Amino acid sequence: MGSRNGFIYAHPDDETFLSGCLIRRLADEGEEVVLLLATRGDAGRQGLERAKNRQELAELREQEMLVAAEILGISEVEHLGWPDGQLDEVDFQTLVGQIITFIQRHEVENVYTFAEDGGNGHRDHVAISKATTAAVHSGECPSVKRLYYGFSPLMRTQGHQPSILIDTETMWTVKAAALKAHQTQHVTIGRHFGNLIDFPVERRWEAFVLGWQDGVYWP
Ligand SMILES: [Zn+2]
Repeated sequence: MGSRNGFIYAHPDDETFLSGCLIRRLADEGEEVVLLLATRGDAGRQGLERAKNRQELAELREQEMLVAAEILGISEVEHLGWPDGQLDEVDFQTLVGQIITFIQRHEVENVYTFAEDGGNGHRDHVAISKATTAAVHSGECPSVKRLYYGFSPLMRTQGHQPSILIDTETMWTVKAAALKAHQTQHVTIGRHFGNLIDFPVERRWEAFVLGWQDGVYWP
């Protein structure tokens, strides 16, 4: 068994948007991949054409997530079930504690999450990034060797360079299939990735920056 990788995000589909090909590649190399999601992604009107209410939408998105996980080779998905869109209102230490528990349970060595600006400024993305950083730095996660952040424009202005860069073109069919599994999100997915048949050149790269390694920031 290779190393253990824990991806920690806010919503079902974040894992595919940022790291679908990276996850599939890790799994193909025999590494273990587990996923922690803070919310079930049940806010917003999108998806409600297929579900009667938020509860039904949450269940639907959980099912979609299982299909995507199968496609990407994720061995376990955990949902914290916090309210979608309100993650920055959750008690911070409680959220940090839940992430610590997840990391400890799976003895995660490599942690991946959003950049501190959430990549796109989404408040849930920012909140999960902050809480994940706090968990790794808590001293209670001795298994963690590395913490990676999704590469964002902010990081470029800060002078950081990606340490993981995945060209999604050769693996596009895998990523497209995982995106397709998140059926309720087809509007957002279409906006970002187009029709899922043609390769979206402008979304070519999955990129992560090594933000912390063995106690050193920005190694
Ligand atoms: Zn998201």
